[in-house]
Formats: sequence, structure tokens, C-alpha cells
Amino acid sequence: MLSTMQDVPLTVTRILVHGALVHGSSQITTWTGEGEPQRRSFREAGTRAVQLAHALRDDLGVTGDERVATLMWNNAEHVEAYFAIPSMGAVLHTLNLRLPAEQLVFIVNHAADRVVIVNGSLLPLLAPLLPHLPTVEHVVVSGPGDRSLLDGAAVRVHEYEELLAGKPTTYDWPEIDERQAAAMCYTSGTTGDPKGVVYSHRSIYLHSMQVNMAQSMGLTDRDTSLVVVPQFHVNAWGLPHATFMSGINMLMPDRFLQAAPLAEMIESERPTHAAAVPTIWQGLLAELHAKPRDVSSLTQVTIGGSACPPSLMTAFDELGMRVCHAWGMTETSPLGTIARPPAHAVGTDEEFGYRLTQGRFPASVEARLTGPGGERLPWDGESAGELEVRGPWIAGAYYGGQGVEPLRPADKFSEDGWLKTGDVGTISADGFLTLTDRAKDVIKSGGEWISSVDLENALMSHPDVTEAAVVAVPDEKWGERPLATVVLKAGSAADFESLRAFLADEGKIARWQLPERWTIIESVPKTSVGKFDKKVLRRQYAEGELDVTKL
Ligand code: AMP
Repeated sequence: MLSTMQDVPLTVTRILVHGALVHGSSQITTWTGEGEPQRRSFREAGTRAVQLAHALRDDLGVTGDERVATLMWNNAEHVEAYFAIPSMGAVLHTLNLRLPAEQLVFIVNHAADRVVIVNGSLLPLLAPLLPHLPTVEHVVVSGPGDRSLLDGAAVRVHEYEELLAGKPTTYDWPEIDERQAAAMCYTSGTTGDPKGVVYSHRSIYLHSMQVNMAQSMGLTDRDTSLVVVPQFHVNAWGLPHATFMSGINMLMPDRFLQAAPLAEMIESERPTHAAAVPTIWQGLLAELHAKPRDVSSLTQVTIGGSACPPSLMTAFDELGMRVCHAWGMTETSPLGTIARPPAHAVGTDEEFGYRLTQGRFPASVEARLTGPGGERLPWDGESAGELEVRGPWIAGAYYGGQGVEPLRPADKFSEDGWLKTGDVGTISADGFLTLTDRAKDVIKSGGEWISSVDLENALMSHPDVTEAAVVAVPDEKWGERPLATVVLKAGSAADFESLRAFLADEGKIARWQLPERWTIIESVPKTSVGKFDKKVLRRQYAEGELDVTKL
């Protein structure tokens, strides 16, 4: 028997129309670095999204599911593009401005982007690439920057504000099949070429609802979210969509991502929530210690993208900012798990342990663990295997290119269609995920696994250590052993013996897991999205560039 319910498509258009109408007075505040921030209501941004869609269609001739790329910071114009492009039926392609030039060229060509909307401050990055981007016909420039960099480029150049001026303020949005592409984002690609994940209208809609659930970020129109996680990194964790759904105000840092301006915007704009990867928060913490600010408004901080070190969580708790840890990937939209402790643990000794896990799976994310021989492992909190997931906002394939079938490489998708995450961990009986490592980062020592993440967290809880990354290096006897690379606080006199003793102290780390190879580095190399880039360290070690001491 069929249901008697209406079959209304779940679309980004609906989120836009709803946000602009019902939450019209909510605000997007964009930091400008000097003077007053730019303030724009959802109503104004919604109208401007309509005007942008007219400009893209009428002036630039964008039709069908053509790709419109953005090379932009987090700001109100980027939010307008987020809604205008999918709502008109085209596909938003956010470009990661931290990628090396050759990867950006690959991505734009692979997606066959026709238009690039770019912040003026990023023209020095885009202009030299244009001769290598044959599909790009139009460049739309927004915000301050040197337009002369585009002189002589074989594209038509437009001013964002001039395109919008005088355009109609209503749009007859097309009926869109909810399974159609709305947005795409390429994974940062630690190996091989970047791979395109294509989000549907439906996946974005359902994911936004999940983000807004009380057990997830649970924000309301009384909140202001400081969206530090870039809009080019998995749709800023879904926040621009989720905020329009619930009227949550957004504070956008634009290009001012250094710790000092972040501290300043928190003090003056008083956000209640913020979202970013741990490296941003480590920087902010150091800044706040050096120069205390009033950050009392910020009571909720979502941390994900890499494991949240316990020391960071404690330090933030002490400042009154409650950290909520979450796990996800570009392929998972990204919300996969979020660590809200279960009711029975709240206020008990167990609570902190639950908060440190990657978190609990929501109903729409099914999970299973696969052992090295392909066997299913139990949810017992002990058996560690590769995490596989499936659900309505989880990728089932990568974009193959125009006219090419989607790609389902066997190392990323199981035969029955689950996503192989490449993350290794355990799941407790009550559905909490604890990641012990990336499959490729785990240290395989004499047939046993050593978690690089455990060693890093233990090292980073040492008062003299700012950052630490641990990588596997070849070892004649054991196959692999850990190499500890450590960034010490300025003026610290800590030596390797004392750090090693610290790890062994109170059984933090089992003796056989203690690193014997140590080196001091100036900073841990980071990927384009601010995560530890361990392949750089592995290469530096292999090429003898690190000054390693063996204890
Ligand atoms: P990306 O697609 O660039 O967002 O990277 C996704 C990967 O980041 C995941 O597969 C994990 O390895 C890692 N990651 C994300 N969140 C966490 C977390 N909370 N703890 C540990 N690793 C994480």
C-alpha cells in the first residue's frame, strides 16, 4: 500500500525561500578587518541570491546543470552563491583556495566549471591559472582586490555588485528533482588526483535537519555561529544551509582567520557557537593566553576534521567554552558522528570520556566495522577495524567527469555500496565511535598496531609541547616504529628522555609503544584544510631532512 503523503522534493531552494521569509531578520555578519563589519539580513541575502541567479542566467547564460565555481572566503556573498546556484538548477562547485595550483587546475577542468565567482583578494591565485582553464568563460569578482590582474585574460570579467544591481527580486525557481546535483566538493586527495563528491538537494536538506537537531549542534535563532570552517571544505560542515533552515545568525571571518582577529571578532560580535578544526583552536588558545579577551559569549565549540586532543578540550572547558567533538568527511556531508554524552553519563566521571570519543551515530548514518580479513567486528568498544558507513548523505560514488560513469574504486566503496572511510576505530555497544587512527597512519609494529593519535594526544598534554605528530618509520626488527616529531614551546628546556618518561608515566602509553626516535620541528606541516600532513613528515624522514635522535 502506498502512503497518502505528499511527495514534495527536499531542495536547497526550499531552504533559501524559508530562511529569507520566515527568518528574514536573522543576520550574516562579515568581518571586514577595519571599521564596522558588513551586516546583511537573511531577507537581503535571499533577495540578492535571487538577483545573482538572474545575472547568472540572463547575463552569463548559465543553463541546466552547468557548474559555477566559487573561489571565496566565508562571507555573505559566498552564502548568496550557495543558494542562488543550486536553486536555479546549476551546480555550486566550491574551490579550496589552499590547494596547490596544479590541483586547482585539475579540479576546475574535471568539473568543467563555466563561471568562477572570486573574491578580489584571491585574484593573485586565480589569474595565473586562467590560461589553463579552457572551460571558464566568465569571472565574477566580489570585494576588494586588484582587477588589473585579469587584464588580457581570455574570459569575460564582471563585477559582482554591478551584475546584481537592478535585477528582478523574484525568480520563478525551477522544479528540481531532489536527487539532482546541488553542489560539489573535491576531497583534498592525500593520494592520486582529487575526487569529486557531488551532494544532492535531498542530501543537503536532510543533513541540515540533522545538524540542527538538539543532539547535534542544536542551535536556534537565538544563536550566532562563528563559521571558521571554510565554505570550501564540505560546505562549512553544512552550516550555511542549516542556519537558513533555523534562522541561526552567522558570523563570517572572511580572510581574517588568524588567531588575533578571531579573538577580536569573538569579543566584539559575541557569537555563542563556533566551528573549526583543532589547529585553529590551538592558535586561538595561545592567543587568549598571551592576550586575554572577553570570550564569555562563546559557550559551544564544535571541533572536528581531526581528533580533538584532550588537553585542548580541557583548556577550552576552563575558559567556559564547551567543546563538542564530531567526526566526518567530505564524503559524509560531513556529519557522521557527534559526541553528546548519553544522559546517564552527564555529571559523572564517564562524561569526559564520552566527550573525547568521535561521538554517536545519528539514525541516518549506519555503521559497521570491518577487520583486516574482511570480517565484521562487534560493537564492543574493543574490536578495532575499518569504519564503513552508509546513509542518505553519504557518498556512494565519486564524480566521473562529464559523460563518464561515476567512479566506485574498490578501496573506497564495498561491493554492497558502503563507503570505506579509511578510518580505524572501535564502536561501543551504545554506538559511540572511537577512532584510533587513519588506516594509513597506524604504526604496524611487530604485528601489533600502535595508534599515532594516542601518542600525539599524550605528548600534547605535556605542558612544554605545543604540537606533536607521530609517524610510522621503517624499522629492521619491528617492521615499523613510531617517530615522534615535537614542537616545543618557546624557551622550553624539555629533552627527549623526559618526554619519553612523561609518556610512560602512570601507564599513559604502554612501554612497547614508546617511541625511540625523536626530533624537534618548528611546526607540524599542515594540509590545505589545516590537518597534520604526515606524508610530508614521512618524506622528510625518508630523505634524511630531519635531525633524529634515537634513545
Ligand atoms: P576531509 O574529507 O578532508 O574532511 O577528511 C576526513 C577525514 O578527517 C576523516 O576520514 C578522518 O580521518 C579525519 N577526521 C575528521 N574528523 C575527525 C575527528 N573528529 N577525529 C579524528 N579524525 C577526524
